[in-house]
Amino acid sequence: MRNLSKDLFLNTMTCPTLGWELRNDDISGHGSQFPRTLGEKFRVEQGIDIGNRARSLFPTGLLIEEKDMARAAAATRQAMEDPRILTIFEAAFFVDSTAARADILIRDGTGWSLIEVKSSANDRGNYIDDMAYTAMALTQAGLVITSASLLLISKEFRLGMDNRDLFVEVDHTDEVLLHAEALRQLWPNIIDETSGPEKPRPVLKFECKKCSLFSECTGKEIKNHIFQIPRLSPKKFLELTASGIVSIEDVPASFPLTERQTMMWESVQAQSPMVRDELESELERIAWPAHYLDFESVMTAIPLYPNTPPYHQVPTQYSSHCCDNVGHVMAHAEYLCDHTKDSRFDLAKRLIEDLPGNGSIIVYSNFEKTIINALAVAFPSLAPSLESLVDRIVDLQDIIIKNFYHPDFGGSVSLKSTLPALVPDMSYSSLAIGEGETAMVTFAYLAMGRYDNESADAERRNLLEYCKQDTLAMVKLHERLDEYVRGVG
Ligand code: SF4
Repeated sequence: MRNLSKDLFLNTMTCPTLGWELRNDDISGHGSQFPRTLGEKFRVEQGIDIGNRARSLFPTGLLIEEKDMARAAAATRQAMEDPRILTIFEAAFFVDSTAARADILIRDGTGWSLIEVKSSANDRGNYIDDMAYTAMALTQAGLVITSASLLLISKEFRLGMDNRDLFVEVDHTDEVLLHAEALRQLWPNIIDETSGPEKPRPVLKFECKKCSLFSECTGKEIKNHIFQIPRLSPKKFLELTASGIVSIEDVPASFPLTERQTMMWESVQAQSPMVRDELESELERIAWPAHYLDFESVMTAIPLYPNTPPYHQVPTQYSSHCCDNVGHVMAHAEYLCDHTKDSRFDLAKRLIEDLPGNGSIIVYSNFEKTIINALAVAFPSLAPSLESLVDRIVDLQDIIIKNFYHPDFGGSVSLKSTLPALVPDMSYSSLAIGEGETAMVTFAYLAMGRYDNESADAERRNLLEYCKQDTLAMVKLHERLDEYVRGVG
């Protein structure tokens, strides 16, 4: 369940403005609890499923179902007063301006054990802050916390196992209690800072770079923000902002930049593409006929198939355009796994057949290499053939990163940024599936049997079209780069 005060705390440790947004714009603005994309919807569903499975480990636990915090807090108090109730789920606490819900509270003598459930297989630093906030709220409500731990997803879990095997408990009592006490002392200041009627004046910090409000807040109406400079270090960021510089246009020529940063700076200053001489020799390394290859994959907390661990990246499909020269397509091959079973072996076999010869295998990012290497580990009988595919890989994105920049890239070299800049007449807007996360969730839903037969057929066609568009986009992108090399771009 979303906890506004906790969000406020976790986000306002670096930004009072963000805290103000959360308090005052909760429904329509950032931090809305309503998922906006298929990927967000899927993550919410996964979280709910993991939460329910965690509760199943405590069959006598009582769930506080009330959504309203005041009523939920009253129901929690009532449950705590009943000594027969040993475990409470979603226990609510609402004291002064502090509101919190504890995933699982277990009666422990005169105190309570706090357990927070996370649908992650990895312990993360911010989980301590998260639990510290809840522990502080519980302490303010008069509870004695005897232990604080996380329930994380076990990497040993496999489909068909009991829910008891799904979780590992990690004790964080000492850190949580220490952080909770530090937070208790800071809390009045945080509340003062964020609860006024006026929105605090935003101050640009390095943390803004990853903030989802950036373009509406400190980045608003700033074209070519210095955050677009590749690998801008916090030190250089501070040097620039100390001089009042937030736009790449205002960065002086004397400012020390790396080679790649300089290429970008020159491109933005000149408002024209920058092409390094090495682009030509890099592209000449490509051996023909070449295959432009793209994979899609799926990754879920609860594995979709036996013998795969949680959050394992399972390749689900590929597309390959084969060209005998730049921009000249000879053939297209594609494969989409049977979603009802683990089809990785069949996919790997077909992949080897579909990428014959010694020509280059052109990819966009390191992802395809990672997938093929993982297939080689999973299927040793295919490993020699798969490893020889890896040897043929040429990464077009890496070539762009080192040798080319267009002012319309806006600091990103993802295919979704470079394609509109270089091939504006090609877009994903007419496709039913237009980005990777939707493709991932669509396949997961297929595997989970969420579509009827007719819809499943339609979604499978959509998946094939999306992946095909990705490899065709790479063909077109390469063609444009070649035009720049030849001076006709
Ligand atoms: S952009 Fe920066 S100042 Fe604005 S809300 Fe985000 S972190 Fe806060």
